[in-house]
Parts: sequence; C-alpha cells; structure tokens
Amino acid sequence: MRVGIIGGGISGLAAGRGLVENHDVVVFDTGKRRVGGRCASRLPFETGWGGAVDHAAQFVKVSTPRFAAHVEEAVSRGVLRPYGAGSYVGTAELGISGFATDLASGLDVRGDAWIPPNGGLRGGWLVDGEPFDAVVIAHNGKCAERLGKRTSLGPLLRARFGRVDSKRLSLNSVYSLLFEVPAGTVDVDVRYVEDEVLAFLSNNNLKLGWEARYHVFTALSTGDFARRNKHPQEALQGTETETRVVEEMLRVVRLKLRPDAAPETVKFISRAVASGLYDGTSFYRSDFVIQCGIHGSTKTNPFGSLPVNETKLHAQLSNVRGTCAIAHFEGDNGSTEFFINISANQHLDDVWGGYCVFAEVADDDAMMVCSRISGDVKDHGAVAIHKATLVEE
Ligand SMILES: Cc1cc2nc3c(=O)[nH]c(=O)nc-3n(C[C@H](O)[C@H](O)[C@H](O)COP(=O)(O)OP(=O)(O)OC[C@H]3O[C@@H](n4cnc5c(N)ncnc54)[C@H](O)[C@@H]3O)c2cc1C
Repeated sequence: MRVGIIGGGISGLAAGRGLVENHDVVVFDTGKRRVGGRCASRLPFETGWGGAVDHAAQFVKVSTPRFAAHVEEAVSRGVLRPYGAGSYVGTAELGISGFATDLASGLDVRGDAWIPPNGGLRGGWLVDGEPFDAVVIAHNGKCAERLGKRTSLGPLLRARFGRVDSKRLSLNSVYSLLFEVPAGTVDVDVRYVEDEVLAFLSNNNLKLGWEARYHVFTALSTGDFARRNKHPQEALQGTETETRVVEEMLRVVRLKLRPDAAPETVKFISRAVASGLYDGTSFYRSDFVIQCGIHGSTKTNPFGSLPVNETKLHAQLSNVRGTCAIAHFEGDNGSTEFFINISANQHLDDVWGGYCVFAEVADDDAMMVCSRISGDVKDHGAVAIHKATLVEE
C-alpha cells in the first residue's frame, strides 16, 4: 500500500518506521529546518550557540518494555544518553531532535510541506497532489480536526489527549523562552517549577553536556499563562504581548530613577548598571525589603563608596513600599548594594543618616515581580539577576 503520513513529529515518524517495512510510505511535515515537530531542537549553526538547544521536548522517559527496547537501541547508536533515573536526553550536537532525525532516516520525508485542511484529502486520499491508499494524520490541534472531518473516520479511531474529555481535539499552548546567562548564574539543570508563570526550566548546556561561558536556558510557561497571553505565534514578534511574556517569564523589575531626589546616587548606580556589574549577581535578602548587589558573588566593586548620603539633601522620598534605597551601615554612605521596600519602612528615613531613596518600582506589574522575588528568596536563598539595563524613557 502507499501510505501518506501527515506530520513528521515523533508520532508520524514512528508510524512511518513501523509501516515502511511493508508499505510505500511518504511523510509530509511543515518543518522548514528539520523533522521532529516538538522534538525539533535548534542547532548551533542556526543560533550561534555552542551546542543544541531543546525548545520544547526535553527528555524521554521509558514507560513500556517496547519503548525501552527502542530507547536502548537509540542509546547504542549514540542518539540518546541516560540522564538520571529512567530519563534519556539527546546529544550536545543535536539535542532531542537527534531522536527524531534518527527515526526519519531511510524514510521518504517531504519537509516544508503543509497539507491544507481544505485540499489534503479528497475522496481517494490525495495528499499534496499525490494519490495514496491510506493516510495517517499524525499531528494534533484544530488542523487535524479539520482534516479528519473530511474523511469517513469514526471518532473511535481518534486518539484523545488533554484534560477535557471532548470529542474535539483542541490546542493547548505554552510559551517557550530561550535565554542565556553567564555560567553559574542560575543554579538549575532541569527542574519543574511550582509557579503561576513558569512550569519548567532547563539548562541546555548542563543537560546536553556542552561547554560555554554562557549557559542557554529553556523556560516553559504554564498552560494558564499561555492562555492568558494568547497570541498567534507567527505574528508575535514586536508585539506588546511578546514584551509582556518575556518580562513575566524572566521576571523583570522596572525601577524609575529619581535624580530629583538623589542625583549623585542615581549617577553612581547608573554607572554600575551600565558596566554590567549587576549581571549575574542576585537578590539575596528577603524580609521587609528585598536586597540585591554583588554580595555573595565573585564580583568586586570597582567604583568604591558613594561620596555622599543624599537622603536629606534634595527632595526627600520616604521609604514607602515600592521605593528603592541604598543599603549602608552607620558612618558610611553605602555603595553597590541596594534594596526595594516590600512594606512601608518609614523608620528607615532617619536611622543612620537615613536610607537614601533613589528610585521607585515603575508600576504594579513590577511590584508583583518584587513580591514573587521576595517569596523565592525566602524559599531558595537567592534569586539570580540575569541582566540589569538602563532604559531611556
Ligand atoms: C513545550 C513542550 C515540552 C515537552 N516536553 C516533553 C518532554 O520533555 N518529554 C516528552 O516525552 N514529551 C514532551 N512533550 C510532549 C512531546 O513533545 C509531544 O508529545 C510529542 O513530541 C508529540 O509528537 P507528535 O508527533 O504527536 O506531534 P508534533 O511533534 O507536534 O508533530 C506534528 C508535526 O506535524 C506537523 N504538521 C501539523 N500540521 C500539518 C499539516 N497540515 N501538514 C503537514 N505537517 C503538519 C507539525 O508542524 C509537526 O512538525 C513536550 C511538549 C511541549 C509542547
């Protein structure tokens, strides 16, 4: 028989491998770069990074003896390697996509081929203009639903996934964000996260075993977060949604500087930010404030101490919730370490010459991020600062 498979992800390719021994199989897949669908990693020549990056599927777990045998075979061919109890990951060069390309080897795969819902299946199984005796629809979502509708397939033949027991297949999205930070900044290799925004974090370098000064992370959002920030993926770039999603997934605290209240302090901190001093440091204290700076990192302060405590020299801002002030001890003016007031701390306006407020949290979203950081520092001891930047308004 001639069998057309629509979808070159793991399921389409697995179907292809199973059928190819006795049938003439063609796999059609939209993938422009390679097959694999959600297992199609980004490779070094595309990203400029030193190894593969898994942007969706991260690892496989063995659940049945048949699958175990298949995975063992992939391990023996160097496509997968064991990673923790019962899990397997891809290689440094290909990531998890190596698993898919290995399945595809020897199959007739037509890449960059989208089979339209309205023209794909016409009576005699015509796919992309070619006749087939049978067709496998190996992708999910609304498109599969529409393709299926034009056939005589009964609902019993459809595999159902998802939380809702529905006769319809539905789309369940998550956001996947790739970012790089100096090695050692975020102490995570592969971790599920209990959070409203983030569901999963994985360090591609550590997981796949490739060395670089910067580590590339994949952050996956929760389904609820993706639903709340729904946007057509082809038109996401440059939109407000994209900015919001990136900021929330990376947890951006926006501070509005107040040179009217502390001009020298603003100049000092701006210079330190511009030099990259805070990149790769952390928030390390959480009680009635969250405090950050170079404390606990390997960085040293090349800027010395602040020349003056400006608390009472200009328009004095009080240490109310959401303000940001220089940390200092009795008799000094402080330097690179500063804190954000999580509660009303007006008592700090006068002690030890006053704690100089030089900025304030820009808006409610940023304050929400501060509250989350506060909880995370309590739970985990510290929260990494990936990058601090100055933005002109
Ligand atoms: C973010 C994320 C993380 C995940 N992590 C893991 C993990 O760590 N471990 C794990 O086991 N599973 C994981 N999963 C689940 C796993 O990736 C999927 O179950 C699996 O890859 C699905 O394979 P598939 O072949 O069914 O579908 P897909 O991988 O989606 O492949 C379907 C293919 O069909 C193509 N296609 C769609 N419509 C058409 C059309 N009309 N014509 C031609 N081609 C078409 C698509 O572009 C795609 O290439 C994850 C999923 C996501 C989204």
